[in-house]
Amino acid sequence: MSELHKFIFEGLPVRGMLVRLTDAWQDILARRAANTETGAYPAPVRQLLGEMAAAGVLMQGNIKFNGALVLQIFGDGPVKLGVVEVQPDLSLRATCTQVGEVAPNASLSQMVNVNNEGRCAITLDPQDRLPGQQPYQGVVPLFGDQGEKLENISEVLEHYMLQSEQLDTVLVLAADDKVAAGLLIQRLPVEGEDNLAGKTDSLMRESVLGKSEDFSRIAILSKSLKRDELLTLDAETILHRLYWEEPLARFEPFIGETGPRFACRCNRERVGRMIRSLGTEEVEGIIAEQGQVEVGCDFCGAQYRFDPVDAAGLFTGLPADLPTNVPGGPVH
Ligand SMILES: [Zn+2]
Repeated sequence: MSELHKFIFEGLPVRGMLVRLTDAWQDILARRAANTETGAYPAPVRQLLGEMAAAGVLMQGNIKFNGALVLQIFGDGPVKLGVVEVQPDLSLRATCTQVGEVAPNASLSQMVNVNNEGRCAITLDPQDRLPGQQPYQGVVPLFGDQGEKLENISEVLEHYMLQSEQLDTVLVLAADDKVAAGLLIQRLPVEGEDNLAGKTDSLMRESVLGKSEDFSRIAILSKSLKRDELLTLDAETILHRLYWEEPLARFEPFIGETGPRFACRCNRERVGRMIRSLGTEEVEGIIAEQGQVEVGCDFCGAQYRFDPVDAAGLFTGLPADLPTNVPGGPVH
């Protein structure tokens, strides 16, 4: 079963999380493989999306926020879009849109950052969004400080965390056809640290520096974790191997009902709204051509079919909460 483990290092300003997606990840892959139009993901795309899925769960687990965390890659190569959406209850869904060939050993930049124009966006979308309220979004490029292309999504996200939360973060990610897993270690701000500059209190300086050494040591230990170990070892073994000399304190893990699991939020009503937004003319055109409107969900593979009667109903049987000034809407 998929699981998320949270832990702290007692007395040290460092916290961490370890995620292993097994059934949830296999579910996502199986649904894609069952799609006769796309077929299964090529291995490099699978690795990218799996690492994004693991990172998405870690990032959602790391914040106190009542809403969806959406991690997106907008690629300028054959992979146009990668999306992972994680809800506060850790249910998640993920999909990638690929146009054109991806070589069997393609690197991250060959997939999504050919011309250094690829972007990664992190969106926090509140559950009960007020009218007019925009979701918070942060966007980071897929290159480093010198403009060099980054080849690990973990580096891209470490960059984001430093920028948005001003927190030093270490991320180790890996994914194959069975497991998508990740380790996150974060340095917590030490009280008074912000005011340190210019102060001459050497005792305080020493104690803060000491604490940042703790993070450096734990960061080095964490980075020593190999891809293979992350994919094949269970959480107990990984945490013990890395931190057996550290004052590790663990919380009750999130597994099963409370753990990460696949769930899609698509439904016929939402698809209907999307079709309606195309406008009468466009929809009539599709029906004239294909006899019906058929929409497949990229996340779960569900097929939604609207025959001519259903489709016409979309434009007449409008629910009362729909604004009346939309094109094709009712006039009162
Ligand atoms: Zn769906």
